[in-house]
Amino acid sequence: MKIKRILERTVPISRYADPSIPSGGLDTSIVAVVTDRIVDGAPIVGYGFASIGRFGQGGLIRERFAPRLLAAPDCLGDPPDPFRAWRVMMTGEKPGGHGERSVAVGTLDMAIWDACAKAAGLPLYRCIQRHLDRESEIESVPVYAGGGYYFPEDDGARLRDEMQMFAANGFTHAKIKIGGKAIAEDVRRIETAMDVLGGGDCLAVDAIYSYDHDEALAAADEIEQFGLWWFEDICDPLDFETIAAVIERYRSAVAVGEAQFSIPDARNLIRYSRLRPDRDILLFDIAHSYGLPEYLGILRMAEALGWDRKSFFPHGGHLFTLHAVAALGLGGAEINPHNFQPFGGLTDDARVVDGHALPPELPGIGFEGRTALADLFHDLLKEAGR
Ligand code: MG
Repeated sequence: MKIKRILERTVPISRYADPSIPSGGLDTSIVAVVTDRIVDGAPIVGYGFASIGRFGQGGLIRERFAPRLLAAPDCLGDPPDPFRAWRVMMTGEKPGGHGERSVAVGTLDMAIWDACAKAAGLPLYRCIQRHLDRESEIESVPVYAGGGYYFPEDDGARLRDEMQMFAANGFTHAKIKIGGKAIAEDVRRIETAMDVLGGGDCLAVDAIYSYDHDEALAAADEIEQFGLWWFEDICDPLDFETIAAVIERYRSAVAVGEAQFSIPDARNLIRYSRLRPDRDILLFDIAHSYGLPEYLGILRMAEALGWDRKSFFPHGGHLFTLHAVAALGLGGAEINPHNFQPFGGLTDDARVVDGHALPPELPGIGFEGRTALADLFHDLLKEAGR
């Protein structure tokens, strides 16, 4: 199978379902990898996007990584092998200086996996398993609802409504944001969410790196009483000293890794933050971390340091992540039921049951099972004249 064309566009996304609330200018890249393999009269096209939270990466995709793939049209081989194409993309890249080139590579890697799974006629999780020689029946994946962003008005009431919506849709666990207001106000948010979900062990909080050293310790002391599921993104992601200081006094789990995009960065985080393999959570985002090949390296590295793969809850909240969690037997997956649309969430007909979900059985990632997302990708093809 050969790659014929690569299309790319930057599109806006919002962390809010309510379009009247400003999105903060966040966007992401979408890509389409068009192949020469024809099925039912149309070429197989793999789709990917730059996950969420790190903006679009169109420049790097257009100028550097897509041209490398197009200059080596046989890079997939036959049968198609995503690892081969990944090595082509990484040709000449030096170690270190990961920046956000890892996001550009991960975006294309997602689309390549989608195309390869479609070529094999397999759902992505099965395709991943086949490439790794670990084919087995998958179990329903533990999932949690990501959300709980601050509402500019009526925050308490709207947060309660959001948590009730999650619970009504089958979620047993959820994650909300803290760190953007005074701790007393965040404690009220935590109590509101716990009240709906039924306890602290069902609730994770994400501070989105907002605390300095002293604030992090004060917040940890304040929320310790709730026995939360986990405390995420406490301080600057490279401030290992503060993470270690929190861990020294905070007994419940902390969650880290969403902003570490490579094996060496992940290794440093684990080593120097003094993370605890018996409880702490690793959030590395697959698409932000050069895609699945690098993520598998992170997984192997952590396992060699004594971590269980059940400690991995990859960031993202979308279908690609859900497939990877199912295929690799990781701890669980985030789902964004209503924010970061049309990327967040399951296929239109899928349901969360008692906090668990299965990836779709459609060939590939199954983006075609999300109407709004399929329309977005089809627009990209149409605009380019296919
Ligand atoms: Mg986070």
